[in-house]
Amino acid sequence: MQARVALVTGGTGGIGTSIVKRLAGMGHRVATNFRDEGRGREWQARMKDAGVDVAIARGDVSSPEQAESLVRDIEEQLGPVDILVNNAGITRDSTFHKMTPQQWNDVICTNLNSCFNVTRPVIEGMRARKWGRIVQISSINGQKGQYGQANYAAAKAGMHGFTISLAQENARFGITVNTVSPGYIGTDMVMAVPEEIREKIVAQIPTGRLGTPDEIAYAVSFFVPDEAGWITGANLSANGGQYMGW
Ligand code: NDP
Repeated sequence: MQARVALVTGGTGGIGTSIVKRLAGMGHRVATNFRDEGRGREWQARMKDAGVDVAIARGDVSSPEQAESLVRDIEEQLGPVDILVNNAGITRDSTFHKMTPQQWNDVICTNLNSCFNVTRPVIEGMRARKWGRIVQISSINGQKGQYGQANYAAAKAGMHGFTISLAQENARFGITVNTVSPGYIGTDMVMAVPEEIREKIVAQIPTGRLGTPDEIAYAVSFFVPDEAGWITGANLSANGGQYMGW
């Protein structure tokens, strides 16, 4: 497959790092954003030591202005973005009756508005070039809901509505738009949960274990090649069988 330019938001995180490595391993030129310059440069150096060259640009994806400027920065470094993975995300958990407007807004802005903010500056170019791949990293909890995560579940379910609308609008332009919905992955976010709660989570997973970031990266990579050009508007669950609905 032709080498393409891929932008993975939140590429410095647990799952993002695996997606970056996987896409680079497929021969693509990969980029991500950072918010803290020191941590961004340190991560970039670690990736270089591991044999992966990654372009990085400053930007908070919850801000339309910063998202646009980070896309333009990456375009200057690598050229137009052909593959976009909307992966950046946060949780701010609370039962709804105690949830603050800030907890609600932070999660909606970072997980859902970011999809608008980063996709909007790349979509015209993909349409003009008649090729594009857009993948949203949603969550099992957007499919089934989760106690204490009304904000997160709403944002993650919204990402799939975004996916299927964009898929319809852009199918004739060679652009596919899909969602990957991970279950519980052994990143820092989940390993920070107390062990006894983690054991209860694992007990609900038919495979009997947490997933790995590489398993999510593999699911993302499935949507990228030319041969995947007829797969659009899909939601791929990668959750060890924990939830088998849409
Ligand atoms: P991490 O916390 O490890 O990584 C999150 C990444 O997103 C970091 O690079 C972080 O950068 C970046 N980020 C957060 N907020 C912003 C922002 N406003 N602007 C730019 N970048 C931002 O999370 P994971 O790797 O575990 O999760 C990745 C995605 O997968 C998320 O969307 C998450 O919701 C989803 N997911 C994760 C699951 C899991 O079990 N881990 C399960 C299901 C879905 P910074 O270093 O600057 O904070």
